[in-house]
Amino acid sequence: MYDYLIVGSGLFGSIFAYEASKKNLKCLVVEKRSHIGGNCYTQNLEDINVHKYGAHIFRTSNINIWNYMEQFCEFNHFINSPIANYKGSIYNLPFNMNTFSKLWNIKTPDEAKQIIDKQRAIIKNKPKNLEEQAISLVGTDIYEILIKGYTEKQWGRSCLELPPSIIRRLPVRYIYDNNYFNDPYQGIPKGGYTRIFNKMLEKCEVLLNTDFLENRQELKSKAKKIIFTGAIDSYFDYRFGNLEYRSLEFKHKVLNIENFQGVAVVNYTDKKTPFTRIIEHKHFEFLTCPKSVISEEYPLEWHKGMEPYYPINDEKNQVLYQKYQELAKQEKNIYFGGRLGEYKYYDMQDVINSALEFCKKELKD
Ligand code: FAD
Ligand code: UDP
Repeated sequence: MYDYLIVGSGLFGSIFAYEASKKNLKCLVVEKRSHIGGNCYTQNLEDINVHKYGAHIFRTSNINIWNYMEQFCEFNHFINSPIANYKGSIYNLPFNMNTFSKLWNIKTPDEAKQIIDKQRAIIKNKPKNLEEQAISLVGTDIYEILIKGYTEKQWGRSCLELPPSIIRRLPVRYIYDNNYFNDPYQGIPKGGYTRIFNKMLEKCEVLLNTDFLENRQELKSKAKKIIFTGAIDSYFDYRFGNLEYRSLEFKHKVLNIENFQGVAVVNYTDKKTPFTRIIEHKHFEFLTCPKSVISEEYPLEWHKGMEPYYPINDEKNQVLYQKYQELAKQEKNIYFGGRLGEYKYYDMQDVINSALEFCKKELKD
């Protein structure tokens, strides 16, 4: 008999497994994929650590979370400075003086502010949707060139139907600074992410290629408690209908080229290009090997059976999620956590925080 059955070997499940094992509790981790690590998983190809489920750049403002992760890895000094390609023209991201100067041929923050203030004056009230939020932050030119096309293909919905919060993830700066994030701690784990998970799961038993939902009765009987980090609606057999997600397809290519795009991430911000971004993995680790591996990221509408990568946290889905949360509360000895278990657009630092908070409550002596 195990103390815990942990469904999913992503960050939430693996952190819980690590903390529980430290207290000599017996854990069984079941993972439906053929590897551990969830969406953070990296695979070594041609001596390059390939982020198989999209670019994963670790960052946080919380020194405790940074220190916690440093138990398992050493971070390099990578700073994410992606480029936008709009119909062949190149712009810096996030929206900063380099972007404004290229767009309007201006030099000073004052000039940029004047242009943006004039454009954003059309939004008079509190933004109700992503379009209004974007225009009120950066004006209409940037909205049209760098936001609208990218966002509508990423989410498969009009910007008028999307919540303002999605675009508030991006900084707007009146300085020449291409760092995509504001957090003071940022980097890529040297040697890739998978090593972190190997260490976290060292003391646990792990069953790969095992879908909990297909072996529910048998697996349930093996443990006193269950930590479920898959999609909460899938656990309840979509009883109230499914929550909405965005899915993705990644096309990975090995190239006989040393340097394909000169930067780790290029976003294609027009609507017509079918992928949203191309990742060139070697640039995460400053490698100079003769080959390169790139990945194109194609957004897809999610249907049952596909990977649910992004929760769609609009009002309609939040209402439905609350109904599932009520069901979850009635279940005995089962806890839901992580991006899919909590149906939240969590970054790694948020998941780590949520997992550690949960450990504090669940594993107190
Ligand atoms: P997951 O990593 O999704 O792990 C859940 C695991 O459960 C999966 O391995 C899944 O296969 C397994 N599972 C699900 N259902 C079952 C079942 N029924 N039976 C058995 N196993 C099951 N965050 C950042 O901080 N920086 C970034 O740059 C970044 N980039 C991202 C890019 C993309 C394209 C995506 C999709 C996410 C990105 N994230 C990023 C977010 C990050 O991936 C998540 O915050 C984090 O990985 C979530 O961890 P988790 O454990 O909640 O979920
Ligand atoms: N976004 C955009 N243009 C870009 C990059 C991002 O409009 O070039 C918008 C888009 O709506 C995206 C959101 O900003 O979903 C958040 O971007 P982020 O890079 O944080 O997305 P993630 O890496 O989570 O997919």
